[in-house]
Amino acid sequence: AGAAEVRVGMTAEKRAAPLILAVGSGKGGVGKSTLSTNLAVALSRAGKKVGLVDADIYGPSQARLLATEGMRPTAEGNKLHPVQSPWGLPLLSMGHLVQPGQAIAWRGPMAGNALGQLTDAIWGDIDLLVVDLPPGTGDVQLTMLQKHKPAGAVIVSTPQDLALMDATRAVQLFEQAHVPIVGLVENMAGYVCPHCGEESDPFGQGGAEAAARTMNLPFLGRIPLDLAIRQDSDAGRPPAAGEGPQADAFARIAQAVIA
Ligand code: ADP
Repeated sequence: AGAAEVRVGMTAEKRAAPLILAVGSGKGGVGKSTLSTNLAVALSRAGKKVGLVDADIYGPSQARLLATEGMRPTAEGNKLHPVQSPWGLPLLSMGHLVQPGQAIAWRGPMAGNALGQLTDAIWGDIDLLVVDLPPGTGDVQLTMLQKHKPAGAVIVSTPQDLALMDATRAVQLFEQAHVPIVGLVENMAGYVCPHCGEESDPFGQGGAEAAARTMNLPFLGRIPLDLAIRQDSDAGRPPAAGEGPQADAFARIAQAVIA
């Protein structure tokens, strides 16, 4: 009975700790949340059992992106049950831990504890937890990373020089926390005019790939600036769950992550 207990205990232990894949960015507004949602959906379409944690304390947006607004996680003992999104992803958000509109002056340790509540929830049988981190490279992020060490991190940047400089800082933050970088993703790269089809590069192109090469990191792919991505995301329909070039772009990044 003793050995069986130990085995059961080990299984429970193993289930409680799926691999964490963090998604970070040097600053806000570069598409970190959009990538987190769609990478999670694409990984799940590629056969992985995936959960999603929205740790963005400054602007949790996953409830909207995954059409789970108004849903509330239930608690069992001191653990949370994730919310089930209609897209087949279990989800827990920082937005679920605070009252809507409630302002919190987050400090590193507090945010670290809150992240623990989300990652150490009743996730059931999953392989991978995608964690949408807060943007930036401050204390809060560092504590989160040190306390709940991800197995790897994906960094999102736009092709702009400024965003790239910020992305370099994000790389350093992960390295400081001894989290291996899986690679860089360039978002909002290239724009196809929905009216005339002309291609332009409002934020330049290829910058993140060049930066990845300079830093000796894998480049995982690029997502174009595309009105349909914004519209579908706002409507709670992850583009990665559909068909067409948008879904393909996210699927390619998921394949690069798995590889
Ligand atoms: P972050 O999490 O980095 O703050 P978000 O993912 O919230 O950024 O994206 C900011 C805004 O840009 C959102 O309105 C989102 O829909 C939009 N967006 C993100 N990526 C793209 C893209 N590739 N094409 C069009 N709109 C995008």
